[in-house]
Amino acid sequence: MTKITRRQLVLSGGALLSASLAPNFSGLISSSYAQKILRNGPIIRAGSNENPYGPSRLALQAISEAMDLTNQYVGGNRDNLMKLIAEINGVSTDHVVLGTGSSEILKTGGLIASWDKGSVVCADPTYQDLVRYAGKAKSEIIRVPVDENLYCDLNAMHKAIRPDTSMVYLVNPNNPLPNIINQTELRDFVLDVSKERLVFVDEAYYEFVEDPNHGTLIDLIADGHNNIIVARTASKIHGLAGLRVGFGFAHPELARKIDDLKTGKNNILGIEAAYASYQDLEFQEFTRRKNKESMMIVEGMFHELGVRYVKSHTNFTFFETGIPVREVNKTLLDNGIISGRPFPPFTNWSRISMAKPEEMREYVRTFKDLFGKRILDSTS
Ligand code: PLP
Repeated sequence: MTKITRRQLVLSGGALLSASLAPNFSGLISSSYAQKILRNGPIIRAGSNENPYGPSRLALQAISEAMDLTNQYVGGNRDNLMKLIAEINGVSTDHVVLGTGSSEILKTGGLIASWDKGSVVCADPTYQDLVRYAGKAKSEIIRVPVDENLYCDLNAMHKAIRPDTSMVYLVNPNNPLPNIINQTELRDFVLDVSKERLVFVDEAYYEFVEDPNHGTLIDLIADGHNNIIVARTASKIHGLAGLRVGFGFAHPELARKIDDLKTGKNNILGIEAAYASYQDLEFQEFTRRKNKESMMIVEGMFHELGVRYVKSHTNFTFFETGIPVREVNKTLLDNGIISGRPFPPFTNWSRISMAKPEEMREYVRTFKDLFGKRILDSTS
């Protein structure tokens, strides 16, 4: 059989593959391959921090059993899901808001921050959903550069707070920098800052972190602190990004306010899938284990090439290629790999999400072929 490169396969949408197969099989196989490629896009998805294994088998089963309930606006296990999430996190259900992905909670948080024309303080770089939305709602966004070791600079953020600042937004672990904020420093900061204004802590990658210096702030909400919002998502370790399920945690009054302002409505498939998935501890453990395996493969390449990278506590990593990220992304895409979008001002860095180990081996092979010599020459 003719050897076909990944690039040819992607560019041909499977037609080349069909031509290389025996005529009586070619139609069948080429159409299913073409459909798969058209539906899934290029072969290695390493750009959006998705779970390459998800949804879990239990979630898939729940989805298929709920298919004939999709005539309903809501129902099924919605209340049970709320109870489960509250129980897992040590709060009562009136502390929990269900969102169509955590993005909905983030954007509603951004809206609340701009309600009183307040400014929003955040690290730079960080995840943009909340601050972009608050900016569109006319909040001034005060971006505080990370420190020289690329950590959120809490001291500088504290100094950047102005009398009109209505919210401080923290992402822990951060994104695109996959590092964590020390738990003691974070708690001191949040307890102090939340006396006067809202603090929003985005914990989208919480389940991936194993470092004892990291922790959630949901317990502060359970203790009655009323100016703190925490967001979590079913999109990452649970692999349910396409079904849009996320959660906000806040004091009951604030939780009700978020619930009143949000505009989405969760669908029954997402609710059933999340209810099954949050009980599937084995799947979460499996994902963590495979994620570490993939991470080791990619970090091995960083060491070989001698590039600077941020030690990851998530399912993605961030490294300095020294090459414009747009060029890196275009070349990788031509070779069937989707890599993370640019994150200015880190325009010579690349964010890469963990796909399956075999895919990350292919990524490493391809990346080294394309850029290895150039990087080694520039660092020697
Ligand atoms: N927060 C962070 C830090 C993220 O990286 C993402 C997605 O990549 C989200 C929130 C939004 O996730 P979702 O809306 O799918 O819950």
